[in-house]
Amino acid sequence: MAGRYFKLLKDTLMAGINLLIPPVCLGCHESLLDAESILCPSCQARIKLIPPNGCPKCGLAMEDGVCPACSEFKYDFDRSHSVFYYESPLTDLIHNLKYREHTRGAGFLASGMAAFVNNDAHYKQSDYITAVPLHAVRKRERGYNQSELIARRIAKLTGIKYIKAVKRRRYTASQTMLHKDQRLHNLQGAFRAYPNKSLNGKQIILVDDVFTTGSTLNEISKSLHQAGAAKVLGLTACRA
Ligand SMILES: [Zn+2]
Ligand SMILES: [Zn+2]
Repeated sequence: MAGRYFKLLKDTLMAGINLLIPPVCLGCHESLLDAESILCPSCQARIKLIPPNGCPKCGLAMEDGVCPACSEFKYDFDRSHSVFYYESPLTDLIHNLKYREHTRGAGFLASGMAAFVNNDAHYKQSDYITAVPLHAVRKRERGYNQSELIARRIAKLTGIKYIKAVKRRRYTASQTMLHKDQRLHNLQGAFRAYPNKSLNGKQIILVDDVFTTGSTLNEISKSLHQAGAAKVLGLTACRA
């Protein structure tokens, strides 16, 4: 109760502060002239799109028609794509989105991701969009799931229906400090599809903020396939 009250108080105060202090760029913290944007023109100019000609499964650049990662490890998802490189200013924007309650960045990322979906022959045929879930405890602490914010916005921009498809069953240790095989082990059995959702034969876009090793998308993809999904297409804002 007290937690909720303080959050309300803080939000109210922040709203007041926003009226007094001009908004700043989420990349470099310079004041913005245009109150509608979230990045200044020079930060916007530094953002690099990943060309959609890498490995269709994991997005890495191919070597002589072979993906160096997928020749060693078979991902469960059917395709995946990351829209931006995980570099400044987007590293700052995503950090702010996760830890500082600056959720405006979600709309920016979502518009780039929706443009990709609307222009991709495979992605645009999807039945549903869903997001990597946060454990209920962490969602309560943070107040929102940043991947869900992004996914819901993409759903609006593409007309593809957003659904809650998977639940996080365990509170897993943060993945940040783990190696690739530790990450896979850490997540085994951590997700389960909601049994009351009919995913049979459906094609589902699974949204997350950053693709690092692909282990989170991989585990969730397994539960969606087990629940009957025909295809799972990973979609992340950035590729680390
Ligand atoms: Zn800037
Ligand atoms: Zn690959």
